[in-house]
Amino acid sequence: MADRTHAGGERTHRGIAVSGGVAHARILTIGQARRHVDPTPVPAEQVEAELARLNTALVDTRRDITAVKEQVAAAMGANEAGLFEAHLLVIEDSTLLDEVARKIRSEHLAADAAFHVVSEKYVAALEAIDDAYLRERAADLRDVAGRVIDHLQGIGEPRDLRRLSEPCIVVAHDLAPSTTATLDREHVLGFATESGGRTSHTAIMARKLGIPAVVGLGPLLGEVRDGEYALLDGHGGGLTVNPTDQTLFEYGQLKQRRAQFEEKLSLLREQPAVTLDGHHVTLAANIDAPEDMPAVQASGAQGVGLFRTEFLFLNRRDTPGEEEQYLAYKAVAERLGPGATAVLRTLDLGGDKLPGDLARTGEPNPFLGWRAIRISLGHPTGFRQQLRAILRASAHGRVRLLYPMVSCIEELRAANAHLAACREELRAEGIAFDESMPVGTMIEIPAAAVIADMLAREVDFFSIGTNDLTGYSLAVDRMNDRVAPLYQPTHPGVLRLIRMTVEAGRKLGKPTGVCGEMAGEPALVPLLVGLGVEELSATPALVPQVKFLLRRLKLPEARKLAEFALQCDSAAEIHAQSSALARQIAPALFGGG
Ligand code: PEP
Ligand code: MG
Repeated sequence: MADRTHAGGERTHRGIAVSGGVAHARILTIGQARRHVDPTPVPAEQVEAELARLNTALVDTRRDITAVKEQVAAAMGANEAGLFEAHLLVIEDSTLLDEVARKIRSEHLAADAAFHVVSEKYVAALEAIDDAYLRERAADLRDVAGRVIDHLQGIGEPRDLRRLSEPCIVVAHDLAPSTTATLDREHVLGFATESGGRTSHTAIMARKLGIPAVVGLGPLLGEVRDGEYALLDGHGGGLTVNPTDQTLFEYGQLKQRRAQFEEKLSLLREQPAVTLDGHHVTLAANIDAPEDMPAVQASGAQGVGLFRTEFLFLNRRDTPGEEEQYLAYKAVAERLGPGATAVLRTLDLGGDKLPGDLARTGEPNPFLGWRAIRISLGHPTGFRQQLRAILRASAHGRVRLLYPMVSCIEELRAANAHLAACREELRAEGIAFDESMPVGTMIEIPAAAVIADMLAREVDFFSIGTNDLTGYSLAVDRMNDRVAPLYQPTHPGVLRLIRMTVEAGRKLGKPTGVCGEMAGEPALVPLLVGLGVEELSATPALVPQVKFLLRRLKLPEARKLAEFALQCDSAAEIHAQSSALARQIAPALFGGG
């Protein structure tokens, strides 16, 4: 992924920009010096002492993780903290611990060497499987193993970024969630990692913390040194080591312009998302947890266009029941501004999102397998708990319900039948809910777009998931680097599916929104508006930019662009035309003006 350019001593590494901003500081590498473990056997009489040392280190590590968990829960909410449950599970895994103890007994390895050998064996096994979920588990295991070994070696917390004495840009292969979640926000100005993509923990945490981040930089740790100065460009996706005065000057100006621009954007908070010629677009925000609501409010979004409720189920051992879900959904509903709605999507588990308690199915194609509405319909008890929780929350604010990954009318009808049964139950129990709560379906499978006219008869609105719709239409796995250039949301085939959906909805007065990443890309927003999309929902950090663009757009020019796109045979050309229009009307968004 990294390409490098040189200008004097300056080197630029290129990666994926996942969190905006520019930082200039010294580099602090994490995990560069691999822990040295000595494989020389200890004398037989020391074996018991090694086992005792192991136990003490496990107790200390458990205490550390619990402390981090509590800190994160206090700072960021229970959902983020749930991740550390997975770490506690690692430290309690008897298979792993028994094997370490056996190694100490039979091979007389020192405790740190035994833990290293055994944990690396499991890490390698998990990493060898081409599966994003298992790779995350490998990262968890390595994170925990590092802590145990640090304790055994008396190193304490070498990777502790909680208290630093000077500003830095953290460079690492990948950052463990326990590190990113608790880092010293005053001194960590940004981070750059060798691995990762837009959906990696690192990227998600960075966006939430508002720290510039570039991931997927490729081999980097061997090429930078602690203390070297670097510039991290979270907009353009670059890490420039030893920047020249000229580069610093340019970035200084850029940073200043960005800061001024951010301020200007914040003034739009209370302004409506309306085009120059008075066309209203509902501009909402995507969330993963009720704790995201302050960010939604600060962004100036009009409500929540997508609550990915599956995040309540991830990184924990148990499953949230009806009451816990109800409280989470109610918390969102109650925090909506006047006139705003919250779209609560039922579980979209599966694919790369699997909770700890769901047995791995070992499916060869998880994205084409047991996922989302299919799982819900296969677990009616759990599905009804969620539907009841959502219905109950609808008594506290304007809630809309959304089904993910619907591929055919039967699924929609089956889901609606469960919903009708839940409504009946609640009525019988005298529990309040909104009798007219709108119900919609995601359009993210091409066949669903093609039969949108039929689906429209049974729902109140459509929400297009362009992330999956693009992947499924073009048969491109968006996690796979090799086919990444083929992943083109502006492919004419994808745009025609969007258009078909909008038209089918319109005929029956059912509005269509987009809640995939495309809705947060200012360069593509004119295209979506021109295609007739009425609601855009993006991550809160991108909402102000989208609003800025919308307020400079005129509907006829957006429509003209869409007409061109529907006739054009080239995804690249369509992308170029849409960005050209966006740049022309809102140059400041692209660093110009
Ligand atoms: C999408 O597919 O565009 C979408 C919004 O759903 P998710 O990203 O959660 O799969
Ligand atoms: Mg999707």
